[in-house]
Amino acid sequence: MLTNNLGYPRIGNQRELKKACENYWAGKITLEQLTDVSKQIKRTNWQLQKETGIDLIPSNDFSLYDQALDLSLMVGAIPPRYESLKNGNPTDLYFAMVRGYQKDGKDVTAMEMTKWFDTNYHYIVPEFYKNQQFKFTSAKTVDEFKEAKEAGFITKPVLISPVSYLLLGKEKEDGFNRIELLENLLPVYIEIIEQLVAQGTEWIQFDEPFLSLDVAEDVKIAITKTYSTIRDAFPDLKLLVATYFDGLGNNTELAASLPICALHIDLVRGVDQLDEILKLAPKNLSLSLGIVDGRNIWKNNYQASLKIIDQAKQKLGKDRIIISPSCSLLHVPCDLENETNDTTLTPEIKQWLAFARQKLEEVTTLRDLAISKNITQANNKLKANIEANETREQSTLIHNSAVKQRTAAITETDATRNSVFSIRKKLQEAALNLPSFPTTTIGSFPQTAEVRSWRAKLKKGDLTKKQYDELLKKETEETIRFQEEAGLDVLVHGEFERNDMVEYFGEQLSGFSFTKNGWVQSYGSRCVKPPVIYGDVSRPEPMTLYWTQYAQSLTNKPVKGMLTGPVTILQWSFVRNDQPRYETCTQIALAIRDEVNDLERAGVKIIQIDEPAIREGLPLKKTDWAEYLNWAIRAFRISASGVSDSTQIHTHMCYSEFNDIIEDIAAMDADVITIECSRSQMELLEAFADFKYPNDIGPGVYDIHSPRVPSKQEMITLLEKAKAVIPSGQLWVNPDCGLKTRHWPETKTALKEMVDAAKALREIEVTV
Ligand code: GLN
Ligand code: ZN
Repeated sequence: MLTNNLGYPRIGNQRELKKACENYWAGKITLEQLTDVSKQIKRTNWQLQKETGIDLIPSNDFSLYDQALDLSLMVGAIPPRYESLKNGNPTDLYFAMVRGYQKDGKDVTAMEMTKWFDTNYHYIVPEFYKNQQFKFTSAKTVDEFKEAKEAGFITKPVLISPVSYLLLGKEKEDGFNRIELLENLLPVYIEIIEQLVAQGTEWIQFDEPFLSLDVAEDVKIAITKTYSTIRDAFPDLKLLVATYFDGLGNNTELAASLPICALHIDLVRGVDQLDEILKLAPKNLSLSLGIVDGRNIWKNNYQASLKIIDQAKQKLGKDRIIISPSCSLLHVPCDLENETNDTTLTPEIKQWLAFARQKLEEVTTLRDLAISKNITQANNKLKANIEANETREQSTLIHNSAVKQRTAAITETDATRNSVFSIRKKLQEAALNLPSFPTTTIGSFPQTAEVRSWRAKLKKGDLTKKQYDELLKKETEETIRFQEEAGLDVLVHGEFERNDMVEYFGEQLSGFSFTKNGWVQSYGSRCVKPPVIYGDVSRPEPMTLYWTQYAQSLTNKPVKGMLTGPVTILQWSFVRNDQPRYETCTQIALAIRDEVNDLERAGVKIIQIDEPAIREGLPLKKTDWAEYLNWAIRAFRISASGVSDSTQIHTHMCYSEFNDIIEDIAAMDADVITIECSRSQMELLEAFADFKYPNDIGPGVYDIHSPRVPSKQEMITLLEKAKAVIPSGQLWVNPDCGLKTRHWPETKTALKEMVDAAKALREIEVTV
């Protein structure tokens, strides 16, 4: 019974890679220094895995930025616009592909980035062209294998399979299906495997995540072809195909029939698939049991896992079983031992958790227990594991019966506004008296280095809470004054008090805990520190009332209250695994509802509940969508429906496809939705138009992710496009997301231009 790991966090225990990359980009360190940091991280990770007793240690799971981008370089899928950079330093070309390049008279845009399945990790989307040829270009996989070998580790190189790689990408021209490119791509993979085998590679892991999704017939054929081609070329190579994030579903038979040595399945997300796989597994197939949760931070339940392992052992025998985490450990923080602050993460909660390093120990302990190896030590660990899980079950920290009763008592009325939108709209018009094409922003204003430094000083004790609040007040007041001067209609307070749109709320809610070092890579050098929801959620005190009221006290214009919605809070946290996600989401929805109601009582007439993460919560298989959308939309409605008809509820979403869930977005019944549209030149609006979206819409008229200031004319053009498909009376004018990453000068100019664009439209309306 071997132990296996699919991938280890590569940012480094102290985010060394993040810092090194950013320093390299800023010209503060050399390429050699960056390479040294990378080498150090890789070696530390290999060493740690070896010491923990992992038999199949991955290599090529490291990446300077992203593994899909690494692959694009490996097979020479470098979009034509980077041609002029190919002669320079390969690392600079690599970073140019993700960060764009504006130097020496060159101006090249970056490649697109999107979410890695249902995680909060973003990968770089490969770009494909008709008849594209591939060429073995970067030897990173081979180099990393050699690097490990020289350091004394025989590793298992990890590669995204050619089919999954193609599926992750996008066709950049019409008239072909990217899966057809397999024929051109496969020979390059063969070349790489040849080199790996020549270096002494015994095992290779191919990630085939699309096997957990619904795939078309041509994809299934392509998958079979891939593995039979590789098998024919390398009969002695041990191929492990890794699936994760869901069960195999309709692809079970296909997966079991592949000519491979081992199949990895995710038994955390898809425990039901085990019976069927065990039935279908041919004699020569080993199963890698993904039993330790690679997506969450809870300690494994050894007793439950051992039952599952035993079931597989009965059928396959111990030699055909491999014990693994459910997926790459990229999605969890490095090491729980970095959490040394007992007030941030109390020992009681800490004993329930396991981060990447602890999860590897769980893998080896489970193997030991399953085959009675190192048995005294393993039994002690089993005992400790049972105790820790029992304290969690019984902890008074977790259970709050008032919260449970309240969620159980929710009725349909609680999740429905008093009147339909057409009636609400009239009442809101009377209450707010806004012009046509009302202007607003999405909430945050620039979080300057100064604002962030105040927060850091407050944490360190260099500023008192009072001093800190005074500084924020000044910043808020300046922001209100600017918005008045720019002529915006609906103002915001600017969100200067927030570190992050989830953490800020989590810190004020019961049932949430935080880490000091629980960083997880989100993309490239960007890391996030998701809160841990460990118990029933409630809201002891108002969370945003103070800042909203303060901002409103400064102006006669309406100030919009700003909240993060229940689904987004759930989605961007580590969620408890001892109750269904919908239950936790409903509890958060009630907490937000209390806040909405308090804001209304304090005289706030417009309240925005942001839900940027609603789309990414969609399950991988379409058959599971309806169930998710049902509770997710209901949670939003619970949070928004406690107010009177004349209170205007906004929501905001960004950077996702809405076409296939437009009906559900409409079912949220927000009075106004602001969405990202500017990058796609309003294409997105078509879905809203085709569906005849009934409520008000603010299609973003400028891209806040770029420092570029759009002209008034550009925004008028976009609004004209919007007007062509959406009745004018439904349109709002706003940027496409919050402005926190922008600087003040460009923000000021852009917003003034935006207000002018709205005014121009009003004039056209009047003359017509
Ligand atoms: N209100 C938030 C902001 O303006 C919304 C952020 C988001 O959409 N991710 O920053
Ligand atoms: Zn947004």
